[in-house]
Amino acid sequence: MKCQIQSYRSWHILAALLATLVAAMFASTSSAQQCTAEPASIPLGQTVRLRCEIPAATARLNGRTVRLFKQGSGDWRGLMPVAVADAPGAYPIEFLAEDGTALASVSLTIRKTIFPSQNVVLAPQIEALHSTPEEMQTLTTFRDSVSDVKYWEDPLVAPLPGCVISPFGVKRLHNGKPTGEFHAGIDQRASDGTPIRAVAAGIVKIVQPFNVLGGTVAIDHGQGLETMYLHMSKLNVEAGAQVNPGDIIGYVGATGRANGPHLHWVVYVNGVPVNPQQWVALKSCGSAKTKSQTK
Ligand SMILES: [Zn+2]
Repeated sequence: MKCQIQSYRSWHILAALLATLVAAMFASTSSAQQCTAEPASIPLGQTVRLRCEIPAATARLNGRTVRLFKQGSGDWRGLMPVAVADAPGAYPIEFLAEDGTALASVSLTIRKTIFPSQNVVLAPQIEALHSTPEEMQTLTTFRDSVSDVKYWEDPLVAPLPGCVISPFGVKRLHNGKPTGEFHAGIDQRASDGTPIRAVAAGIVKIVQPFNVLGGTVAIDHGQGLETMYLHMSKLNVEAGAQVNPGDIIGYVGATGRANGPHLHWVVYVNGVPVNPQQWVALKSCGSAKTKSQTK
């Protein structure tokens, strides 16, 4: 009898200890997983996906703040861009409530990334093209707007099937002279008149010819994701229209600062140009170099 009581008591203590241990483990895991950032290590010019199980309104990486949005799935999501010009290193991403209260913090490693240089041969009258202040303002207004409705879904679709002639991030030279600019989009090989398709659903914001960009369509996909398509020979949508993934928005051309027909397109995440090849799987054209048609 005595023995039975003793074993009952020790079992009780053991169970209590176990319960405390499990509770402590659960508490630490759940707080660590309330907000996540994927991937945890990233090259320059790519996008970090943010997700919270608690109502986070914004997230901050160094001086950059982006919004998170409540999803149909009941969680909060946002997109954090890492710019080409950001400094590599380990940084916290802080998640904040509507009133600015800190909710959670995760660590992000931005890896050192080497971008090659590329020379583009342009005819003098093409090289001399410049944007007007009105054009610059139109582009800034587009980049700076972040709309609440999410139209886009994973995965994005390729705008056309051509291989990549010039990747994102390369340092550009024009006729051998450094421009101080990097390639903020990608160039895909395509012949004149090839249909160009919307990579995701969204609202068309810009349909117009620009001096440098040529025939341009820009689409707001919502919640911080935007795309822009340049150098088109013909524009096939109206500003304000809602498009579905795969809709033909225009046709390949060589308008603006281009040395031949190709598609240059750009992904903006919360106003920052990021690598489209993180979003859409595309093959490289391989050894095509300065003779390829680019801008
Ligand atoms: Zn280009």
